[in-house]
Parts: sequence; C-alpha cells; structure tokens
Amino acid sequence: MTVLSARDLRKAFGGVVAVGGVSLDVEDGEIRAVIGPNGAGKSTCFDLLSGWILPDGGTVTLLGRDVTGWTAPRLARAGLGRSFQRSNAFLGLTVLENVLAAVLARAGHARRLWRHVAGYAAERRRALEVLEAVGLGAWADAPARTLPYGDQKRLDIAIALAVEPRVLILDEPLAGLAPAERTGILDLIRWLARDQGKTVILSEHDVDAVLATADRITVLHQGQVLTEGTAAEVVANAAVRAAFLGN
Ligand code: ADP
Ligand code: MG
Repeated sequence: MTVLSARDLRKAFGGVVAVGGVSLDVEDGEIRAVIGPNGAGKSTCFDLLSGWILPDGGTVTLLGRDVTGWTAPRLARAGLGRSFQRSNAFLGLTVLENVLAAVLARAGHARRLWRHVAGYAAERRRALEVLEAVGLGAWADAPARTLPYGDQKRLDIAIALAVEPRVLILDEPLAGLAPAERTGILDLIRWLARDQGKTVILSEHDVDAVLATADRITVLHQGQVLTEGTAAEVVANAAVRAAFLGN
C-alpha cells in the first residue's frame, strides 16, 4: 500500500526552481532515502510534502487522501511527522518539555500550554515514552541546550514522533554526526520502521551513508528525480555515478 505520494510537485523561489516536477510513491513500512547534493531540492520537497510551504503545482496524497494545500498542523494530525535540517527544539526548555509541547500541540492544547503544563500527567507520560523510545529517557529533565549534538538529533526525531505519525520525514538526521552516532541513528530508524510500523523518509547528501539502511533510494538532482531504485540499482546507475560519484 502506498502511504505517501507526490505527483509533479513544483516550487520556485523567485527565479530559482527548487523543485521542478517531482513525483514519488512511498510504500507502507518502507525506509526511503532521498539523496542529493546541497541545493538539490531535498528540504524544499520535504517542506512541500509536510505542508510547510505551498506548491506552485502538483499534488500530495497521504494515506489515500488528497492533502494538497493542507497546513502542517492538519497534516500532523493526519499522520505525518517531520524533523528539520536545522533543529526546531526550544533550547531553553528541558528535553521532556520539548516533546511535551509537541504532544500537547497535536492534542490542540498548545495555546493553554504554559498555564497548565503541570497538569498534563497523561501527556507527560506519553512524552517520556517517546524520549525512552529514542534513547533519551535519562535526559528528560536536562535543558535541551545541554544535549550533545548527536542527542539533539535524537530530540528532533522525538519531537517529530510526538504527533504519533504513520509517516516520519527526517531532514538530514545524520548530518554532522560521527560514525558511531550515525550507526545509532540508523539503528533507531530501522527499529521505527521494522518494529514500530513507521514509514520513514530521510534525506542525506551522501549516498554511502544510507546504502545499508534504505529500502529504496530516490536521487534528486537540480530539483528533479534523477533516478530511483534499490541501493544496488542506484550505485550502478551511470547518471548517478556521473553526477555524484565522480566517474
Ligand atoms: P537541499 O535540501 O537539497 O540542499 P533545498 O531544498 O534547501 O535543497 O534548496 C533547493 C534550491 O532552492 C537551492 O537552490 C536553494 O538555494 C533554493 N531555496 C530553498 N529555499 C529557498 C527560499 N526560501 N528562498 C529562496 N531560495 C530557496
Ligand atoms: Mg536540505
């Protein structure tokens, strides 16, 4: 079953075509990597898929429904969570409060958050469960700004998971991480897909980083899909080799 699809998505900023007619279909439970160099259009694609910005053209379908033009909060309630290339965590809040804010926002409580935050016992438990799932249980009461960089990437994933998404879109979750931290995040992504039934779409600029983890890889180049396939198919593709691998 296809859980998320895009047809001919387009977005230009002034004269710059960031996304020039991208189509893709992501299957239930799949780990899909979207790879491409800086400026290929990965983040803009994710912004379009998650309702962060409106497309100039094209359509998005989530779980069988046409969701083109839906706002990000509405898409979150419909089952789509996402993280950002640059963290959206509140560094002055604790790790737990960051996830609690996302749990409450999904429940529609965001406006009352600060006056009543002490009262939300069930939501607090839910936020702690999410933190434990991503390996941050021990950091719950620490200020987010004290997290090591690798754990900030885990917090970003926790915030995205707080909306209980079916589809999780992660923008460069491996960027800037040391090899051991990358392995840890990739293990988490595999667990989310294989054990927790999430469909995961992640972007990455280096194809090698995702070869062993992605079920399928979509290669973006200059705002368009250069090719799509399994890891083996993508590394064997002559156009990909010419564009990224230097021969
Ligand atoms: P990637 O995530 O693959 O690095 P982006 O989607 O961030 O690529 O960017 C694709 C292109 O769109 C780049 O040329 C970038 O400079 C441009 N772009 C992205 N966002 C904006 C924006 N808000 N305003 C103007 N240009 C943008
Ligand atoms: Mg990007």
